[in-house]
Amino acid sequence: VKLGLRVDVDTYRGTKLGVPALCDILYQHDLRATFFFSVGPDNMGRHLWRLLRPAFLIKMLRTKAASLYGFDILLRGTFWPGPVIGEKCANEIRDAAEEGHEIGLHAWDHHAWQRNVERWDAATLFEQIRRGFERLTSITGEAPTCSAVAGWRCTEQALVEKAKFPFTYNSDCRGRSIFTPTVGDQRIAQPQIPVTLPTYDELIGTQGIDQHNYNDALLALLEPSGLNVLTIHAEVEGIVCQELFRDFLKKCATRNIEIVNLGSMLEGRTEFPDGTLKLEPMQGREGWVAQQR
Ligand SMILES: [Zn+2]
Repeated sequence: VKLGLRVDVDTYRGTKLGVPALCDILYQHDLRATFFFSVGPDNMGRHLWRLLRPAFLIKMLRTKAASLYGFDILLRGTFWPGPVIGEKCANEIRDAAEEGHEIGLHAWDHHAWQRNVERWDAATLFEQIRRGFERLTSITGEAPTCSAVAGWRCTEQALVEKAKFPFTYNSDCRGRSIFTPTVGDQRIAQPQIPVTLPTYDELIGTQGIDQHNYNDALLALLEPSGLNVLTIHAEVEGIVCQELFRDFLKKCATRNIEIVNLGSMLEGRTEFPDGTLKLEPMQGREGWVAQQR
């Protein structure tokens, strides 16, 4: 069984602390993953204001997000401007690239993208991608080969704007199989590699799943004959859930689960069945999420 592993990096703290820790853990297992970096301002602390919204409050209580992320993350960008991650953490990002991980763009401003993607016009979407793309290129010395929108918040217009950049593929939605997205009668040349498995905050605390049985519950969701793509977060598996993630990798090794980066899942193919995105609510997440139709 093959498992595509992607690491989403949303914050300054995740980049500074979580990325080097995950690089060490992966190095010990001789594994290469795909890292999607956010390189603009870290305004994730604005999440705090969303506490006022009941759906998010319930999720905070269920996952103890404050202990998960640290209070500095929750406050970041609320009372003072957030640090520009690509400025402060260029070394951590460069090191991940030099260790052989695949490097992709997550966002310029993760928080702004999640909140505003539906309202932004084409030029604003393009500008957000361009800023992230250029910053990441200047950090690693190479253009990122792939991208993944923040929070799986991807519209058809965002797909069209992404197609103007030289990404080999994108990973912008939840789904079951690799597909070529279409927008109207336009086929987007960049295939989509959907995430098939739930994230930590979606799975923990549901159906009696706790820290002790989490990895077994996650592994039970793998499809032996299908596409398997897992997202971990530098802020979670790279900081507070390091031991859980080490145990996950050990379990994968004993069960003959081969962990690969996302790009290698294309296996040199460029043609995939056509598909479209639907924007619908999803269990465990706030608001709509792009899903493979
Ligand atoms: Zn993210």
